[in-house]
This record gives sequence, structure tokens and C-alpha cells, in this order.
Amino acid sequence: MGEGVTAFAEGDHVVTSFISMCGKCRYCSRGRPVLCDNANKAFYQLPDGSVRTHDAADNPLNVFMACGVMAEYATLHVDNVVKIDKDVPLDKAALVSCGVMTGVGAVFNTAEVEPGSTAAVFGVGGVGLNTVQGCAIAGAEKSSRST
Ligand SMILES: [Zn+2]
Repeated sequence: MGEGVTAFAEGDHVVTSFISMCGKCRYCSRGRPVLCDNANKAFYQLPDGSVRTHDAADNPLNVFMACGVMAEYATLHVDNVVKIDKDVPLDKAALVSCGVMTGVGAVFNTAEVEPGSTAAVFGVGGVGLNTVQGCAIAGAEKSSRST
């Protein structure tokens, strides 16, 4: 645990978020963290502008979207970590960090799919399948109209 980190404790179960959410800017305070003013800072560095991951020769390694979670270990900023219930299996929770967040998030935060809407999803990999799932949760329906 990093110095000054109080929101988490050793042993907490967490998922990572590739969208940095400061929780303080105008968008975060309005419940639109996907538009966080500070998120762009975290494309290749941690949200505070630091790079804390280094190679064996101590050269800085920039990590994509402040996570770089394809590695065995990662150094994450608190703005990119979300605490979850310890009863949630981590292998299932890991899916939420990427495919579910992107697919379901696109339905609710980007497309704003409404009940009764018809949506087309191109590609049904990890993200696409969760987009279909998000559409179902949002109440999208298969169109009965033919063209
Ligand atoms: Zn923010």
C-alpha cells in the first residue's frame, strides 16, 4: 500500500479500472466519471503524472491506461482501483474490469439505450457479448419491423 493511501487496506479485493476517476472534478461530481477531466493524464502514466514501473535497467515503463495489467504485478493509482466485496470470486470480477465495463458502459453511458430500443452489435467477443448483455438489461428489444 502506498504512502497516504487510506481508502484501501492490505487484503482488500479490488478490480482495476482503465478509466481513471478522480472523484473530484466537475464530471465526477456530477456522476459522469467516464468524462473525468483528469482521465487523459492516465493514458501512459499514473493519474498524478508519475511513472512507477521500471525495467531491469531502471528505465521507466509507461503502462497503458494507468493499469498495465497484462503483467504479473502492477502498480496502480487509487483512482484506477475499485474495492469489491470479498465474496466475489476474483476470476469472475476480472471480467468486470474490461469486457463488462466497456460493453455495458457503452450501452448505458455512451449510447444511452432506452427500453424498447433496437441496437446492432458488430462483433461478439468479450466486449460485444457484454454489449448484448447491457442491451438486454437496458430493455432493448428485437425489432419486429421488416425493411
Ligand atoms: Zn474526475
